[in-house]
Amino acid sequence: MPGDLTPAEFRAAMHRAADLLADYLERVGERPVLPPAAPGDLLRDLPKSPPERPEPLGRILDDFESLVLPRTTHWNHPGFLAYFAITGSAPGIVGESLAAGLNVNAMLWRTGPAATELEERACDWLRQLLGLPAEFSGHINDTASVSSFLALAAARERLGLEVRERGLAGRPEVPPLRVYASEHAHSSIDKALIALGLGLDSLVHVPADPSFRLDPGALQAAVGRDRAAGRRPMAVVATVGTTSTTSVDPVEAVVEIAAAEGLWLHVDAAYAGPAALCPEMRHHFAGWERADSIVVNPHKWLFVPVDCSLLLMRDEELLRRTFSLVPEYLRTTDGAARNLMDLGIQLGRRFRALKLWMVLRAFGAEGLRARIREHCRLARELASWIEAEPGFELAAPVPFSTVCFRWRSGGSPDEEDARNQSLLEEINAAGPFFLSHTRLRGRFVLRAAIGNLRTEETHIRALWQLARERAARLAG
Ligand code: PLP
Repeated sequence: MPGDLTPAEFRAAMHRAADLLADYLERVGERPVLPPAAPGDLLRDLPKSPPERPEPLGRILDDFESLVLPRTTHWNHPGFLAYFAITGSAPGIVGESLAAGLNVNAMLWRTGPAATELEERACDWLRQLLGLPAEFSGHINDTASVSSFLALAAARERLGLEVRERGLAGRPEVPPLRVYASEHAHSSIDKALIALGLGLDSLVHVPADPSFRLDPGALQAAVGRDRAAGRRPMAVVATVGTTSTTSVDPVEAVVEIAAAEGLWLHVDAAYAGPAALCPEMRHHFAGWERADSIVVNPHKWLFVPVDCSLLLMRDEELLRRTFSLVPEYLRTTDGAARNLMDLGIQLGRRFRALKLWMVLRAFGAEGLRARIREHCRLARELASWIEAEPGFELAAPVPFSTVCFRWRSGGSPDEEDARNQSLLEEINAAGPFFLSHTRLRGRFVLRAAIGNLRTEETHIRALWQLARERAARLAG
């Protein structure tokens, strides 16, 4: 039958794909980070109707090279410094490819014994590397958004309100539930509450201090206000490495409040978590070992290709109580086997552990620490140049590898915002770099997030030179 390849054709196609990727990764830094593409460009080049007749894979790969690659934003580029920079490292890419080949669906232990057990061991290795106690069990989800959603679902289950059975609608005896997170928490927490049917009003955005860290006094006061008004505090989210500035909420103070108030503590360390591999950075995480749940994304700063998010649960049984539902056709007689389908809403699961296992082994803890330390060093260097430059300022402290800065061009704050936006556009249009932005205290701020394996000091020096040059040009 046409469609699938013969073994010989498959081998040739995989060899070509391997060559293509090896060449691509070797030379990705020579391309502009952002493709010169406008919305709709690729759509215009793609046939509107699906192919009726089989096409040779060679021609499809040609189209990949001529149509898809030129419209791709290069996340593996050393000048990719936007959002949180990430890298699909070579060992991770090999793991991802092998997982595609096996095409395991690890819903049950029976359907993926290796996938299930490798996931358990790789997650536990990572737990140990992060310095967390053995009570935590980990499993892998696609994203931190889903990991945080699951954690908050378990937090609600722990309240004993029988939401699983009875839902929330039409139950006047259930008080409004409340979740607390810093005003700088990631929007995935808001989305989790939408998905849980608690509504956005259930999220209390707790004010942060001048260093963008959740203010524990304000948290305590908010909990007190809610109790006085008959609402039920349910959970608090502390972030280690917030999205805008990578600020660190005071987890130790938050954990005390959570313990005293009976709140679930979820720690969102989606970006910064890997820094806990380095003993000298552990102080940022003090107290997280007392959390109920923690999310760390190996697909952010641990060089595992997207997607791979580790959710660590102190009491995994609670997650099972929240989500496990076993219809007859999924029953097995494997006794105490861990079935990953019990840990969330999805049934089918990819073999994501393979790429994580390969990255952990191929880099070793030593190799991972060395990269993370180098990224933090580069960030400190950039921050020191910014601080020393008249007309520029650091917009936030730099605890990890992300630098927020602002050009003080003069004029009103709104005029300065507009010039910073122009500066960002000029830098991004030049080709070798891609930065993103945020707003801090209402003001437009540029962000350089260093997290790519290929980013070296020469790139950061070139970025800084470009930023100064373009600012001078815009000023003149
Ligand atoms: N939490 C934090 C602190 C983040 O910075 C992000 C994304 O940048 C997320 C959660 C969401 O990550 P994901 O894309 O894995 O859902």
